[in-house]
Amino acid sequence: MKTKQLKVKTDGLLTKKELNHAVETLSAGELVAFPTETVYGLGADATNSLAILKIYQAKGRPSDNPLIAHVGSFNQLKRLVKYVPTYVEELIHHFSPGPITYILKHNHVCSNKVTAGLDTIAVRIPSHPVALQLLKACEFPVAAPSANLSGKPSPTSAKHVLKDLAGKIPLIIDAGNTGVGLESTVLDCTGDLPVILRDGSITREMIEKVLNVTLKQSEQLTIKTPKSPGLKYKHYAPAIPLILIQGNKEKIRTEILAYQALGKKVGILLSDQTAMKLDLKSNFRLGQTIEEIASNLYDGLRSFENMDYDVIIAESFEKKELGIAVMDRLTRAATKII
Ligand code: AMP
Ligand code: MG
Repeated sequence: MKTKQLKVKTDGLLTKKELNHAVETLSAGELVAFPTETVYGLGADATNSLAILKIYQAKGRPSDNPLIAHVGSFNQLKRLVKYVPTYVEELIHHFSPGPITYILKHNHVCSNKVTAGLDTIAVRIPSHPVALQLLKACEFPVAAPSANLSGKPSPTSAKHVLKDLAGKIPLIIDAGNTGVGLESTVLDCTGDLPVILRDGSITREMIEKVLNVTLKQSEQLTIKTPKSPGLKYKHYAPAIPLILIQGNKEKIRTEILAYQALGKKVGILLSDQTAMKLDLKSNFRLGQTIEEIASNLYDGLRSFENMDYDVIIAESFEKKELGIAVMDRLTRAATKII
């Protein structure tokens, strides 16, 4: 299959003809990769089981790992679920459209292949203008996991999507680099208060402030049968080993030298500040702020596997605010943490 590319200018939208083509492709039960503000999604009509099976096939994704249904408005969201708790309305008011996903009891509108047979569904309204344009034009919800091969770092550019899925999907909408760079915050909203199942750029502090409550620490990342099925799988891992260094930054230099002494080609993934402090040349510029680091992280992980490096040495970041999500992804990507 040839993968057709539709290029959208930065801050631009699809033309009417392009939009029709994308909607028709989805309506015909085919897959369309599209940009969101977090990462690129691999979309299919969420009411069409055969279309959803194509997502699992193209990604090589385990079929017990449910997908997020994407919609363009609160009204479209309400059509998929039994009820919307008051606190979810409040969160939607503050954070949606945006990088946050709500897990709610569903009403069987979506295929049970989307929900992996659970009685709940994950729903998100993304804020990327092209994603919103596409979702508003669809009469159906669009199920969309990240548009990468299962287990690999999520795609933050169309180039990443093509590396993993060229020839396997008919259409990709290319709108340049995504902004946030990490997947959405996932909230279980089936109880009296939300529980964070996956950290993202909408942080615990931001949610607590809006709801004026203190949330339980999420135990989901460590328990054996996590409430979010996806958490039990290996994620975000580049094709080469990644060593994550905690604590004293001098340990980074020691590790690099040790691998180089073995004749290994070492990819170094550091913030600009640490690179300067250690007087080391980072082979990929992650940037300075935690927002830049989040935005560039997956491109960094992917860049090393393209350039025949043997190992990646990565720095740890402070586990606060967005740093919590960055460390969650790095920890899951790591082969070894020292
Ligand atoms: P991805 O598609 O890679 O962005 O991952 C979506 C995440 O949401 C995975 O970790 C899924 O396991 C999780 N998820 C999706 N639907 C549900 C649901 N109904 N209940 C719990 N977790 C879910
Ligand atoms: Mg994913």
